[in-house]
This record gives sequence, C-alpha cells and structure tokens, in this order.
Amino acid sequence: MKRSMMCGEVRTEHIGQRLVLQGWVHTVRDHGGLIFVDLRDRAGIVQVVVNPTTQPDAFHVAETLRDEFVVEIHGSVERRPAGSENPRLGTGDVEVHADTVTVLNPCLPLPFPVAEEAQVDERVRLQYRYIDLRRPRMARNLVLRHKVIKYIRDFLSDRGFLEIETPILANPTPEGARDYLVPSRLHPGSFYALPQSPQQFKQLSMVAGVDRYFQIARCFRDEDLRANRQPEFTQLDLEMSFVEQEDVLEVCESLFSNLTESLSNKRVLNKPWPRITWQEAMNRYGSDKPDLRYDLSIVDVSDIVGRSPFQVFSGAIERGGVVRGIRAPDGAAFTRRQIDELTELAKANGAKGLAWASHTAGEVRSSFVRNLGPGEAEKLWSRLEASDGDLVLLVADTVDVARASLGALRRELAKRLELIPDDVMAWAFVIEFPWFERDEATGRLTFMHHPFTMPFDADLPLLDTDPVRVRAKAYDVVANGEELASGSIRVHRADIQSRLFELLGYSPERIQANFGHMLKAFQYGAPPHGGIAPGIDRVVSMLADEDSIREVIPFPKNQSAQDLMMGAPTTVQADQLEDLHVRVVEPAPVGS
Ligand code: ASP
Repeated sequence: MKRSMMCGEVRTEHIGQRLVLQGWVHTVRDHGGLIFVDLRDRAGIVQVVVNPTTQPDAFHVAETLRDEFVVEIHGSVERRPAGSENPRLGTGDVEVHADTVTVLNPCLPLPFPVAEEAQVDERVRLQYRYIDLRRPRMARNLVLRHKVIKYIRDFLSDRGFLEIETPILANPTPEGARDYLVPSRLHPGSFYALPQSPQQFKQLSMVAGVDRYFQIARCFRDEDLRANRQPEFTQLDLEMSFVEQEDVLEVCESLFSNLTESLSNKRVLNKPWPRITWQEAMNRYGSDKPDLRYDLSIVDVSDIVGRSPFQVFSGAIERGGVVRGIRAPDGAAFTRRQIDELTELAKANGAKGLAWASHTAGEVRSSFVRNLGPGEAEKLWSRLEASDGDLVLLVADTVDVARASLGALRRELAKRLELIPDDVMAWAFVIEFPWFERDEATGRLTFMHHPFTMPFDADLPLLDTDPVRVRAKAYDVVANGEELASGSIRVHRADIQSRLFELLGYSPERIQANFGHMLKAFQYGAPPHGGIAPGIDRVVSMLADEDSIREVIPFPKNQSAQDLMMGAPTTVQADQLEDLHVRVVEPAPVGS
C-alpha cells in the first residue's frame, strides 16, 4: 500500500519519519505565507504544513486546494511549535511538513460544509449522503453502530448462539404492518413478501434443533411513516429453545447492560432491570414504555373521593371511571398560564379537564379544594405524598383517559421540572401484556404482540370464555421512554396455535395458506421456545444521543419512504412489468 498510515494515526512516535498520506482536505488556510491543510480520513485529522520557500512546487499545488479535494501528501513528521499543540486532536502534538502535494481528485463546490457543524436541510443531506457521512458526527455514528453490532455478535457467540441467515424473499408474517410484495416472474400472479421480521423462520429453526439462534436481521414494514420509523430497519433477532421467560430476559439484560457500559458513557440506572407488569406500567406511568429516569408516579385516589360532594370526582366513579393524580415537586411555582397549558395537554389526551391544587406556606391555590368534603383534601395530599410547595394534578375519567392524560402530564412535568438526567439508560422490562386488544376501527379482536405468542397457562381456559382477559407470555424492553424490543415465549403446540388463529377471525383457508407450514412443523417435535428482537437502530441512536434513527442508519429513507440519493422508488420499463405479469393502475385523480 502506498500510504504509510491513516491521517488520524500520526503520533509523536513518528517524529522524524517520512510518510505518504492520502485523504480529504478538511480545511485549508493560508497563514503568513504558509499553507495549512487539515487532512482527514476516517481515523481523524492531521495538520499538514506547506512552505513556499523550501517546497515551491508543493506550495503551488496547495494554493489550488479547496475543501474536500482528495490529495496525496509526502512529507516528514515534526513536533508542532510549542504553544500551537491542539489537545482536541489525537494528532495534535505533531504536524506533517509536506514536500509534495498531489491532487488525486478535485471536488465541486459543496452543497454543505463537511468541516463545520452547520444546520443543514435533511433533504439535502440525504441527497448527498456520501458527503453527509464524511461529517465527523456521522462518521462517529457509523463507528458506534459497527461496534454495537460486533459486541452483540461476540457476546452471543460466546453464549452458544449461532448466527443464521433467513430469506428476504419470503412469505407474509403478521407483525401488524402491510407487506412489501415482490411479484414472481416464474409464477404469474404470485408474490413473495419481504419479511416484516424473521419470526417464522426463527421458530422453524428451533424446530430444526438450532437451539440458540440470532441474526442481525433486516425487517420490512410498509407503514404510514410515523415519527422515527423506517420502512426497512435492523433488529437483533434472537430465539432460544427449552427456555422460560426469565432465561430470555437474562440474556437480553446482561447483553445490553454490558454493551451500554462498554460502548457509551451512559450509566445503567437500575440493576437488575425492573420487571414491571403491563397493568402496573399503564397505571403508574400511563404508558407501556415508561421513562424511569425520573420517579414521578400516577396515584389512584378513587377510594378517597368516591363519595365526595364534588360531582366531578364522584360522578366519574359512579360511571365506572377513576380519579387519579400526580405530584409535581415544587410545582406550586407554576403560573396560571403554565397550569392552563398543562390542562390543554390533558385535554389533547382525552380528558375533559384537569383539577389542580397547591399550597405554599399555608396558602392554598386550587381549582377544586373548596368543593371537597371534610378531610378529603388532607387525604389526597397525603396519598399523593405532596408537601409544601408541590402541585398536584388530578384527572377524573375513564381508566384509559386517566392513563393517557396523566402519562402525558408525567412526561411534560419531567421536562419542565428538568428531572431527566441525560447520562443514564433506565432499562426495564414490561411483562404480562394482554394477548388480545380490540381493533378500534373494526371492533374485532386482534393480537397485541403477534399471533405466535403463548398465553399464560392459567389463562388458557379464558380463551373460550373471556379472551380479552388472557395474558400473554410477552415482554418488551424499554429504556428512557422508548420501546427497544419485543418478544415472547411462543406457542409450540398446533392445537393452541389453531385456536388463536380462529379467535383472530382468520378463515380456515387463510390459516392453511399462510400458516399451514407452522402448524405442520409444530407436529414434528417442536421444542418449547421463545425469543426477542431488540431494534438496533434505536439502541444505537440512544447511545449516540441522536433523536432520530436516520442519524445512525447509513442510507435511510426520508419520511415519505424515498431514497433521495438513489431515487427509489422509481418507475420501471414496460417490458419489465410485462415479464412480471404486472399492470400499473394509475391512481384516480384527487377529488374524483
Ligand atoms: N418478531 C417480533 C418483532 O419483530 C419479535 C419477537 O417476537 O421476537 O417484533
């Protein structure tokens, strides 16, 4: 190789050596006749100095350099003059005195700077992703992503897991989204589906005796793009045989606790990770992905105000609802306007209103206390563990509305009261999810996780009597208010699996066509098994302190599922469509 080392690797131990370096012009400056080039590659930046007196030819070339030219430099490593060291660079004690400078390739004027931390329109960044990825922050994210994946591979290999690839041209597997379909040329009218996850293959690999499976798997889900989702994303897909729930959780917990501490400067807040039931998460935190970096809790006070003369409270309870509240530490300082904003937030989440109260040094401010019965205010105050200077917020409504609105208030209060530390990962498991939920649009029963999830043994009889009460052996990993993984112990018996498909309203034909292979496999010696699938993009973005997963996906799609650099999706030639037996129906004009 022609180059002696990477630009970012030059150190004091190389002083006196002659080097060949190749890289990009990060910046170029003319200082008192000398030209200084910051030469960059993936490993970092080194300062190159070109002297017009001693190296006139090199200097002439250096005068033509612009940002992001690709150049080759021959020169010798020297110690930087005292006082001009740069402690922020690994190479900051040295510089390279060039005797030749060669342009390997020039660069057009840039659409945005690489060297500065400028705010750039994301559309332009995605269009020129190859330039965007040169920016130091993005280059760092790529390295972190690589390290996370390598860590996972090493960790699981050491624990006896096999990395196994599964097909991309596959068949539909229900994960709650639409499928991306690929028309078959050889089988007119038939389609492959890109996997929403390798769920069925990983289960079938358990039937195949693989015992411990993992894959850094690409998943494809054609969803209306919600914030922070991508039509294709990467998950660590994992499956284990002869295990119970706690075995899967233990692997996940030790993998991600160790990974967090090895690869980021964040601390794991709770060890062991809390295991919170879905009911508790919804009641206490108003969310199935609670943020445990702060410990505000929602408290039920229905028993205190159930017979209150204050109709707003007692009426809600008569109608089968609840009264629940939350304490805002030091919230008495909120202005009336701030309380109005919190009320609006509660309303946006379905609440009819927000009752509030505070007292500071004996002075009570409240929207409702004067309407309460004797002793009720004191009991509320003590149940909510409020003290002088605090504010309490109460919602009287259905359970669902109380959960949603107080959950939103909890998150908002944490932000406003600055209760959220940014150097921790508050990992936790949410367990005991309901197996079914009602689809709001159709009123039909649908699955909450996916249809291959084992119900609680004790709840199996409820499948015939009261399915909505059936709990699933399903679990989520959450951290800092985000869901990072879902998994479950699976059904491994054909009879239970068939019954679940029936309850979901699948016709016998559909069951046979889409899942006949699973039901058959379960009758050929399927071991008990279970697994989980953490989202790699999310984990990396959180460790990198990025808000969007697009910052840690090398080549993401935009919010409309387009690749702006490659121009995908795109129209295709008529003969290609013909080969595929596909005809395009032009969408009807808007308004027709
Ligand atoms: N297939 C599931 C998902 O993608 C994960 C699992 O159950 O392992 O969410």
